[in-house]
Amino acid sequence: MEAKISSIIIDQQAQSKFAEFLNNGYAGEMTYLKNNQNLRYHPAELHPTTLAIISVKMPYLSENINCHQQRLKDSNHAYVSSYALGRDYHKVVKQQLQKYAQWINQLLATHQLEQNYRVFTDSAPIMEVQLATQAGNGWRGKNTLLINKNHGSMFFLGEIFTSLPLPPDEATTQHCGSCQKCLEICPTQAFVTPYVLDARKCIAYLTIENPGAIPVELRSKIGNRIYGCDDCQLFCPWNKFSQLSQLNDFTPRNQLDSSSLLELFAWSETEFKQRLQGSPILRIGYQAWQRNIAVGLGNAAPSNAIRQALELALPNSSPLVAEHILWALEQQ
Ligand code: SF4
Repeated sequence: MEAKISSIIIDQQAQSKFAEFLNNGYAGEMTYLKNNQNLRYHPAELHPTTLAIISVKMPYLSENINCHQQRLKDSNHAYVSSYALGRDYHKVVKQQLQKYAQWINQLLATHQLEQNYRVFTDSAPIMEVQLATQAGNGWRGKNTLLINKNHGSMFFLGEIFTSLPLPPDEATTQHCGSCQKCLEICPTQAFVTPYVLDARKCIAYLTIENPGAIPVELRSKIGNRIYGCDDCQLFCPWNKFSQLSQLNDFTPRNQLDSSSLLELFAWSETEFKQRLQGSPILRIGYQAWQRNIAVGLGNAAPSNAIRQALELALPNSSPLVAEHILWALEQQ
C-alpha cells in the first residue's frame, strides 16, 4: 500500500475532459456518470471537514502478468480479468483503508489529536484516477489508467478523506513517451485517441456494465474474455514492474483462473450465486454471465462438445442469452 496526498479540488482541465467524454456519448449506458457533477469536481463536499485526500494504491495481482498473457492464448479457457479473480475488492480495500486511518489516529492520539475521516473505493462519485494523479501516485497513461513507475498499473485505488490539513504531494511527470502499445493491442480498438476511451467498445464495459446485447460486430473480437479485459495493462511495458498482493483475499477463488468456458457455462443460476458469493462478478447477474460465456464459446475452436452444450442450454435460456447462443452456434 502506498499513500500520497491530493488537493481537494479537481483541476479545471480534468473537469473539461470528463465533460467532453460524456458529451461525446463515450460513457454508453453508464448514465450514473452524468449525476453528481458538483460532488465529482469538489469531492470534499462528500464529507464535511475534509481538508486533504489521501490517495492510496493497493496491488491486486496474485501471480505474474505472464500467466495472464498465456491464458488469453487458449480459446477454450474462460478469461476473467485479474482484479476479479478473488474476493470483492470493495470490501477488502475498504477494510485496509479503515485499518490505515485508525493507525493514523493511534499515532495522533499520542499528541492528543484526532482526525475525522471517511474512506472510499470505487463507491462514490469520485474521480479516483485524477486524485491519484494530482497526488503524484502516478500519471494517467494513454490507456486512461493510472501508471506508476515502480508499480505499473495493476492496483486498486482508494481514498481517505481526512480533516488533517496535510500539504498536497507534487504531481509526477508523464512517462508514456512515444509508446502506443495499449492503443495498438486493444482487441476492439476502443481508444478514439490516446487518453480517450470510447467505453461502448471497451470489453470491460461490454461484459460488465452493458445490460443488453453485445454488438454483433464486436463479438468475435472479445475472444475468450468473459468478464472484463486486461490487455491494455498486460502489454503495457510499465507492468513489468507490477507488484504482487500480500493479501490472500485476492487469491483466485473457484478455479476462476483455470476453468474452461464449458465448465463455467455448465453452472446453474444457483451455482453461480453460491460460488460467486463475495466476488465482484456476482453483480452482473446470471444472464450477463451466460451471455458473455456464450460469446466466448462462439469464439472457441469448433468442437462437438461446445455445440452440444450450446444446444442443450438454448431452450431454457432468456431471449438475451438465446440470441447470443444462436450467434455462437453459427460460429461453431
Ligand atoms: S502501453 Fe505505453 S502508451 Fe499505453 S499506458 Fe502503457 S506506457 Fe502508456
